[in-house]
Formats: sequence, structure tokens, C-alpha cells
Amino acid sequence: MSTQRKAISLISGGLDSMLSTRVIMDQGIHVEGINIFTGFCVEGHTHAIRKKDRQKPKRNNALWVAEQLGIKLHIIEVIEEYKQVLLNPGHGYGQNMNPCLDCKGFMVRKAYEWMQEHGFDFIITGEVVGQRPMSQRRDTMPVIQRESGAGDLLLRPLSALNLPETRPEREGWVQREALYDFSGRTRKPQIELAAKFGFDDYSQPAGGCCFLTDKSYSDKLVDMWAHRSSRDYELDDIMLLKVGRHLRPRPHFKLIVAREEGETRFLEGYRKQFVHLLSTSHSGPLVLVDGELNEDDRLLAAQISARFGQGRDAAEVEMEITDLDGRAQRLMVEPLRADEIPQDWYV
Ligand code: SF4
Repeated sequence: MSTQRKAISLISGGLDSMLSTRVIMDQGIHVEGINIFTGFCVEGHTHAIRKKDRQKPKRNNALWVAEQLGIKLHIIEVIEEYKQVLLNPGHGYGQNMNPCLDCKGFMVRKAYEWMQEHGFDFIITGEVVGQRPMSQRRDTMPVIQRESGAGDLLLRPLSALNLPETRPEREGWVQREALYDFSGRTRKPQIELAAKFGFDDYSQPAGGCCFLTDKSYSDKLVDMWAHRSSRDYELDDIMLLKVGRHLRPRPHFKLIVAREEGETRFLEGYRKQFVHLLSTSHSGPLVLVDGELNEDDRLLAAQISARFGQGRDAAEVEMEITDLDGRAQRLMVEPLRADEIPQDWYV
């Protein structure tokens, strides 16, 4: 009797990992999925907060993909360990703060460790040669194999015919002829293969799989580090960078202004950790203060916050500032005019 081979598939929730998993399942391999949660993932948290996103399906795409394929999914949280990848990437950053090559090597390493612990035989990913400028180039794909430790136990079913044979192919665990030769940035072959499998609903995140590829998010992250004594961060820090307008009127403090009701409700959960402002005379957003305020700063923070509420054109707005000990101070302030808020205050 032949041995039932088992593969672990890195599932991001996008189409490529969904296809590569299905290709290998169709060869009779037992496949389970692994999803690595770094804290920077686009999904699973803030995508459901804003009103404009209310119509979008609120699902965790990795779990949804696993359910569509009928496989088990293991979600691994790596927030602490991932700090080393983000803070000191040996291969540097991409266009923004995305350390894609180190990140991919790290994720495959996590999958490799999981594979060894659970007695699986090989790893699959949805990578395609030439699809992404940093981690999915012909010359960087072997780097991931080497640095993750997975070596030729890493198989990329969608691009396998463009790459050297791997052990699962050599050993006959999978048939190389039934794998694919996709390459480049075009999505056409993936869309055709999806149609062949009958997948008509799948996620195609425009900005990639994580916030680190996003310029505005990366700018906020760099600003946060630049104004703290260390580049360390907690999950709350990186979550808050995903929400609201961020304004830094003075180097020692930043305001996080909810852009709408959904964000105000989300930020309410942080009221005990941050000094915060709210208008008591007009409706307006909740504003968190990251940093310390002196007396002049309190007035400035109140005037800026008043600008973003319904009282923006009023002569005076009453603002309440609540400190960390719960004590509240009320101030009557004149809201700043739009032209009194310089563009460079926006992070
Ligand atoms: S986009 Fe984000 S999650 Fe994906 S490889 Fe790059 S850094 Fe990692």
C-alpha cells in the first residue's frame, strides 16, 4: 500500500493559495492549511469598522478558503516573533515598510516547523515567479527555500514548471506534469484556472495581504517609531495605525481622530488607555491623544478636535478632555479653521 502523503499549505485567503491547494488536493494528497497572523493583516480586524465597508462580506478569507476547499486551517499568531522580521529585515524593505522577502522566508519557516512537528511531508504556497517585485522573483524564490530551511520540500504548484524539480516531484508524491507554469504579473491564468475549478467568489485584495505594503500605513508606522524612544510596538499600537486620521501638531503628541461613527465606537475601546477628547456642545468624533499634553497643548488639541465635529463653523465649541485618571476638564474653544491646520500635521 502506498503511503498517504500530507502537505501543509500557506493560506493567505487570496486566490493563488486557494488554487495551489486545490491542485495538490486533486493529486490525492491530504492537505491542511496554515495561516500566519502577524498583526498587520488586512483582514480579521479593522476591515469591518467603517460604514463604507458595511456592504462587504465580513469574513476571514483564510477561513473561508479553507471551508470552500474542505480542509482544516491552523491559524498561528506570531505577533511577538514577527517583530524581529519587521525591525531588522536582512533583505530590507520593499516600496513601503514591507519586508516581503524576509517575511516570506519567516512564514515558510513557520510552516516547515509545523510540518516537522505534525509529521507532514511537504509545504505548498501560491507563489508565482515574477508576480511580486521582491519575494516572487526567479532569483529570490530559492532564497526563501534556503533561509526557511524548507529547501526542496517547498513546492509552488502554480509555477513549478518554471522552477527546479522539488522532492515531492522527484519522489513521485505529486505528478510534475499536472502542475503549472504560471509566471509574471498577469492574473489571467489564475482566473481561468479558478473558472475551471468552479471558484467564482474569491478575494483579490488590491493592496496585497498586509498593511505594510500601504504607503499611508507605513508613513504612520515610521512616524510612530521616530517619536518614541524605541521601535518596539504592541498589537494595540499597530491596530490603531489602521484607524482614523492621525495628526501630529507637536513632536511630543499625536491625535487620532475617528473619521466616522464606526471608528468612534472602535476607539471607545481605548478610552481607558489614552487621554481623549469629545465635544459636549456638538456632535463630533472621539479623539485619542498619543503622547503627553501641557496646558498649551490641551488648548491646541481641543481646537483641532473641534474642527472635525459639527461645531467646526461655530464661534465656540465646548470640548471635554478626560485624563487617564478619569478626571475631565471642560474647555470652551474656537475651532481651528481648515487653513490653520498645516498639511504636514497629517501623518
Ligand atoms: S505583503 Fe506583507 S504579509 Fe505579504 S510577504 Fe509582504 S510583508 Fe509579508
